[in-house]
Amino acid sequence: MYSVIEALYPICRSITGEGVRQSLSILSKYIPLEIHEIPSGTKVFDWTVPKEWNIRDAYIKNSKGEKIIDFKNSNLHILNYSVPIKDKMNFDTLKKHLHTLPEHPNWIPYRTTYYDETWGFCLSHNQFLELQEEEYEVLIDSSLEDGYLTYGEYYLPGETENEILISCHICHPSLCNDNLSGMVLTTFLAKYLSSVSLRYSYRFIFIPGTIGSITWLSKNELSLSKIKHGLVVACVGDSGPFTYKKSRRGDAEIDRVVINVLKHSEEEHNIIEFFPYGYDERQYCSPGFNLPVGCLMRTSHGQYPEYHTSADDLDFIQAENLASSFLLYLSVLSVLESNTKSLSLNSKCEPQLGRRGLYDKLGAQTDKEIRQMTILWVLNLSDGEHTLLDISERSDLSFDLVKEVFDTLVEHNLLTEVS
Ligand SMILES: [Zn+2]
Repeated sequence: MYSVIEALYPICRSITGEGVRQSLSILSKYIPLEIHEIPSGTKVFDWTVPKEWNIRDAYIKNSKGEKIIDFKNSNLHILNYSVPIKDKMNFDTLKKHLHTLPEHPNWIPYRTTYYDETWGFCLSHNQFLELQEEEYEVLIDSSLEDGYLTYGEYYLPGETENEILISCHICHPSLCNDNLSGMVLTTFLAKYLSSVSLRYSYRFIFIPGTIGSITWLSKNELSLSKIKHGLVVACVGDSGPFTYKKSRRGDAEIDRVVINVLKHSEEEHNIIEFFPYGYDERQYCSPGFNLPVGCLMRTSHGQYPEYHTSADDLDFIQAENLASSFLLYLSVLSVLESNTKSLSLNSKCEPQLGRRGLYDKLGAQTDKEIRQMTILWVLNLSDGEHTLLDISERSDLSFDLVKEVFDTLVEHNLLTEVS
């Protein structure tokens, strides 16, 4: 995952344009992405697909003709979606188009101007302080023309048509945690899941933030009822503790599963309530859809100083954090895959466990006691109404242990799965 981030890092992405296409083409080496191109001007609910933006070069030269800001050094130098300009101007005029971050004077901020046709440059505050009263030459060789909004989708069929939606945004330029980490984790999750048998079908979508989910929802409105659970993947490569932002429903199965897995994982974590800001969960959880979609991150967006700056770079994320995030996602999906209702085939009083060899004689005393209690909980709550997740929650025993005991009791013809 880290090496794919290295390949994606230099590309200048935005909500439309060649950077998105190049990035999706890199991810297509790992999973068979279907690429969708939606024309500029298409009405999507209250929004309109914007013109397509592309950029080839940009710089500011001083009066000696030296390039003092160069897009080729960092694509963050350009105010993303800047209209083209080639002009000479004095410092006072130029200054109105410069963006810096005085509190972190060495970092370049990431700024956008998607819905306001203007231009600008972003630079470190230290670079800004070196500028003087002189004539500057400014070039932005960009285009903002009718074209397309591009997104990628991969549908992985399972035993049932019920779907799990996994969504990531793909619109940020050279920024690693937000958002390359989400793009690669989603890709490798899809690649892994394509190699195992699945109860649910999965839909992985790679979309520009906000306008992408609005566009996708408007194109797929009639099939949204198939989505039973969903997660937005973002900020999964930093070293902070996990953060789960609940769906708008707050008590959806996905919310309960992620909370359950985190609680029993011994990983440090925070659970936060839904709020209508952040990533594409805002659109999935708008009142007209109210889909059961949460957002599983490490450090939440905006909660680390490097967020949306040049310091969210290849050093800010680590392969081992990507790996543990990947494993957490797999644990969550594995609970969703195996969460079933359980029915006792011997519900009148407890079955005699000793006769069936179900009293553990081996193992440490505490392990034996926990396992024994798990057997009793699972047998007691197997009334055909409780799911394994219900049993795990009520008994405060981990889902994995409940599932393992359930499987053993099914083998002994004491329980059966209720679909
Ligand atoms: Zn962002």
